[in-house]
Amino acid sequence: MASQSLYRKWRSQTFDELIGQEHVVQTLRNAIIEERVAHAYLFTGPRGVGKTSMARLLAKAVNCTDPAPAARPCGRCAACTSIADGRAVDVIEMDAASHTSVDDAREIIERVQFRPAELQSKVYIIDEVHMLSTAAFNALLKTLEEPPDHAIFILATTEAHKIPATILSRCQRFTFTRHSVAATSAHLRQIAAAEHLELDPGAPEAISRAATGSMRDALGVLEQLASFGQGAITLEQVQSLLGMTAAAEVNALIAALLDGDVGAALRAVNGVADQGADIRQFTRDLVERLRALLLFRATGDRSLLDVGEDELLVLEGWAARADTAALVEWIKLFSGLDFQLRTTPYGHLPLELAVVESLVGVRGSGFGGRESGDRGRAAAPPARAVAPPRQAAPPSRAAPPPVMPRAEPVAPPAAEPPPESPAPESPAPESPAEDLAAAPVAPAADPEAFIAANADFTVLERIESLWEEIKRDVRPRSPTVQALLHSIRPIDVESNTIVLLASSQFHKDSLEKPVNRKIVEDVINKQLGGIFAIRCTIETKAESRDLRGQIREARKDELVRAAMNIFEAHIVDIESET
Ligand SMILES: [Zn+2]
Repeated sequence: MASQSLYRKWRSQTFDELIGQEHVVQTLRNAIIEERVAHAYLFTGPRGVGKTSMARLLAKAVNCTDPAPAARPCGRCAACTSIADGRAVDVIEMDAASHTSVDDAREIIERVQFRPAELQSKVYIIDEVHMLSTAAFNALLKTLEEPPDHAIFILATTEAHKIPATILSRCQRFTFTRHSVAATSAHLRQIAAAEHLELDPGAPEAISRAATGSMRDALGVLEQLASFGQGAITLEQVQSLLGMTAAAEVNALIAALLDGDVGAALRAVNGVADQGADIRQFTRDLVERLRALLLFRATGDRSLLDVGEDELLVLEGWAARADTAALVEWIKLFSGLDFQLRTTPYGHLPLELAVVESLVGVRGSGFGGRESGDRGRAAAPPARAVAPPRQAAPPSRAAPPPVMPRAEPVAPPAAEPPPESPAPESPAPESPAEDLAAAPVAPAADPEAFIAANADFTVLERIESLWEEIKRDVRPRSPTVQALLHSIRPIDVESNTIVLLASSQFHKDSLEKPVNRKIVEDVINKQLGGIFAIRCTIETKAESRDLRGQIREARKDELVRAAMNIFEAHIVDIESET
């Protein structure tokens, strides 16, 4: 792959060349010098931050023939060069994510018992180790219980929480951190200079920001830009390559938020969606920008920011009229959207809801009003149009009732009016514009709870519809577990935990055995394309009592479901019929 070659070419060959992760380098270096290298390491952290680069350096260091331990890996001896070139048969690299053949991975691991052919130590580098098949995982676990002296295992994963304790306890663990925008940009400049590429001001930062701390992604982008042709790489080129609506659209949205202009804010969101841009990336850019604004507003310290001069001017203008408490709430609100945006079948709806929510003063107990006396202030930036609140302020509160902008005639996502009025308890608005005005004032409960519950139940409904297939897929991996599942059914989803109801303590205990649990989680995650854990229970909750139960029940109503489908909506409030 062409986009990988710059990364490979500039992959660090010695510890000195490695960018970042100084704490890991230091510890590993000492281990090499003092000759107390462990038999198993676990490198955890996001993708592209140097886990496999570090693993290769360690593989070289333990095999390097340089007489001075402190100089290992030297990058020049036969061992070092053969590993760097990928010729060393004793360094076995596996990517568990792409290694689909179950027996294959297990066999490879079991071959660890054979002595190395050429080098001093056999080194296994297993990337995305949490994706190993059950059989391979068991082989690995067995090996780690009594590793042969000639072998070292370096396990890497982006999802540390999926590594069972049995493995964790046998590994020395290192956490890799993301590269800062400044560090990534500096590295990009250095490589660009060496490659005779010219980068316009702002371009390295834009690439780094988009790469979110992944050096591999950043270099991939640089390489693509370099292939465009002659002349300097401009900021515009970077933005158009990355589909960075970002800068301009993010700025437009923040300006609208600061103005309290719901219409303009929704137009900004829909503009991005219409361009087919990645809404999750846009939301991350938004959060990143709000965070910069918050830092700047709170400290006035420009050294805390990774921004260029032009951006600084914009931030200064915003900071003068921003409200710190509102910024905090906005960041909380928007940063919590990532999961929903990943799992929702409703496109950019969660972001739209959050935008509206961020600009209306009425909050449930979970937002803005958490501190008494502070209610509404946090989330009420200057509103352009003010409607009288329909809810009376609690008598004991001194603070003024929250203000809310009445919705402008905004361009709604759903174009057509409904054929007939929905049922009273239906979540669907009678007209989109009215929805925007009415939805915020109506809920008595925390709107975030509604959003979270709807997202959870969307997942639950998918699992329920896939349950038979899930059981079927479990069978080839374990008929016993499949049999167990006949007495177990999904009853709830809590964020990324799926709650399963077992018919007895025995069934619960059996399913919760790590090996069985892993089979079920693997199959579920494969079906859903997500990262869910399972939790087993034998108690049915008094489901219909609480808010979640009510939403769950309401979603089962055919009329409600039809309305949700027509309007691509979800439930924001439930009123009792009495
Ligand atoms: Zn060497």
